Formats: sequence, C-alpha cells, structure tokens
Amino acid sequence: MDATATTDTGAGRSAASITLQNVGKVYPDGTVAVGDFSLDVQAGELAVLIGPSGCGKSTVLRMINRLIEPSKGTILIDGKNIADQDPVELRRHIGYVIQNVGLFPHQTIRTNVGTVPRLLGWDRKRIKTRSDELLDLVGLDPSRHGGRYPHELSGGQRQRVGVARALAADPLVLLMDEPFSAVDPIVRARLQEEFLRLQATVRKTIVLVTHDIDEAVRLGDRIAVLAQGGRLLQFATPAELLSNPASDEVSRFVGSDRGIRRLAVTSVKDAMRPLGDVEDVDRPPKVPANGTLYDALAAMLTADSLNVVVVDGDRPIGTVSRSAIFEVPNEEAARRRDETTTLA
Ligand code: ADP
Repeated sequence: MDATATTDTGAGRSAASITLQNVGKVYPDGTVAVGDFSLDVQAGELAVLIGPSGCGKSTVLRMINRLIEPSKGTILIDGKNIADQDPVELRRHIGYVIQNVGLFPHQTIRTNVGTVPRLLGWDRKRIKTRSDELLDLVGLDPSRHGGRYPHELSGGQRQRVGVARALAADPLVLLMDEPFSAVDPIVRARLQEEFLRLQATVRKTIVLVTHDIDEAVRLGDRIAVLAQGGRLLQFATPAELLSNPASDEVSRFVGSDRGIRRLAVTSVKDAMRPLGDVEDVDRPPKVPANGTLYDALAAMLTADSLNVVVVDGDRPIGTVSRSAIFEVPNEEAARRRDETTTLA
C-alpha cells in the first residue's frame, strides 16, 4: 500500500464532513422515499446506512452526490451547501462505488481507473502513474491487470477496480451502495478486510449502504439504522448498537444473535485481569491485545481451556477467563435488571 495516495488534493486534506439536515425525497409518483432525515458524518468516518429493502438508503446516498435532488432539506459537505455547487463538478470530488461496479466494458482496467482524472484534464503520464498507484493500492498488479478488460477479471477483482476508480482523483468523500454484495461470501469477507486496511491508509469520509448487519458491524465506525421512509432509528457505534439497541425495532433488526456479534466488537482488554492467578502462562491459548472477546472465546473453545493469555507481541500482559467474558457490562441487560428490581 502506498501512503502517498492521499496527497493529491494539494490542500492537504483527504476527507470532509457530511451533514444532512431534514432531508426528504418525494418521487414524482408520490412515493415518500425519505420523510425527514438528519445525520452528521465526521471527516474520515465510515458511516453505514442499514435497514430493510426500500427504506430509502440508496435515495439518501444518491442525494449526497446529487444523482437525486432532495425535495427538501440541506446537505453540507465540509460546511458548504451542495445545492450551490455544479452537480457534475461536485461528483468529480465524490467517489461512487455500486454493486456490480459498472466498469466500462470496452476500456482497459487502467483506462477505467483513470476516468475521473481524464475528466479533470490531467496529462496522460500523470493519469497512468496515478492509475497504477491505485491498482497497487487495492492489491492488483498494474503490469498484469492494467491492460486487461473487465471481463478478463474475477468478480472480486472487478470490485477492487471499482474502488480504485472511485479513489482515483483522491475524492474527499466516498459513497458505496452495496459494494460487496455481488461477490460470494468468502471473497466478500476478504474484500471487506482489505477495504478496512485501505481505509486505514486513505481515511476518506465514507457512507456505505448495506442490508447485511454483519457487514455493517465489521466495517462501520458508526451505523445508522433506518426504517421505512428513511426514519432514523439509531446512529451509534457497532458496540453501542449491539449492547444497547434504542428500541425493540432496532433490537429485532440487529437479530437475536446480537450477543455473539457484540463479542466480536468488544476488546479483550475490557475483560482482562492481571496475570497473577495464571500459574503457567505458556499453557492457555494466546490472544493478541488487539483481539476481541469473540477471538478469546473461540480460542478457549478450540483449546478446551477456561482462560486465555493476552499477549502484546510475545509479551503476556493479562488473562481473560470464560466467566469474565460474560461479565463485561451489557448496558441493556443492566437496564432490564434495574427494571425488574424496580417492579419487584
Ligand atoms: P433502499 O435503498 O433502502 O432499498 P430506495 O432508496 O431504493 O430504498 O427506495 C426507497 C423507496 O423509494 C422505495 O419504496 C422505492 O420503491 C422508492 N423509489 C426508489 N426510486 C424511485 C423512483 N425513481 N420513483 C418512484 N419511487 C422510487
């Protein structure tokens, strides 16, 4: 990966905040796709929009790059009202990735990636350098894949090209509509992992639409749960959403196995105790300090052990027991206990 990929804006910025204020969309046939929607996405944040099919996620997303004009409300990017900007010019600074990518079939991969830089009038040498840099960044070898056509790549590779193309002119914002849902689950998991690594390098402001709660939890810094008509039910970090759903509606949506999902977004450090009572630190399975409670429980079950040792590199720094995993406070459980006590 090449960390210089973010330097092209010249202004030294690589991400912008997005503010939606009381935004609504009524389609010409009278469908109220989005009633009144407000959201603040911070610069460099990856916000996920999730909700049932038809609840208005794509409509919200496409209002941000003005592919759809809102019927009401205001959208600000870095504090500037996008209604005052030329839509074509605006879209050149907003990367857009869709399901099935939409690559131009008769253009090579390199030419596809260079689409926006060409529109911006960059010279050919700069476009080629940038395209190859981006292909490299998304894990494709420019000398092997750059001259190929889209049909000569796998679905997962095409998806990577889609991301490279969206990042080519170093946009401040990246909009992604179900970007990984067209590929099979194994490739999807790998693409998601790679994408997280990429985001750690480029730190764009990203709004990503999905209907897959696992994807939302894996990728999102914060997750916005929507209901029909673009009604915002909750906007929270994955851990907050899973441990403290704002309503029964959210609770149902995040699923009855949310307790397990919550383990996957909670750090082992939250349940870690000092090493003191572990007699032989070499015996229990090891879990890295950046691991989750899910990793810890999985390691215990695999090794049939009652505890794990948390390591920082090779150095043991603490221990987590099976019971400690279940003692990490679950705010909702605590609230229920309080309610029960009050009723009694
Ligand atoms: P989601 O992305 O959550 O599946 P959409 O934003 O695509 O939802 O759609 C929200 C609602 O608006 C749905 O009821 C859909 O049928 C309707 N809709 C979307 N596009 C149009 C359109 N061009 N004309 C009329 N209704 C539309």
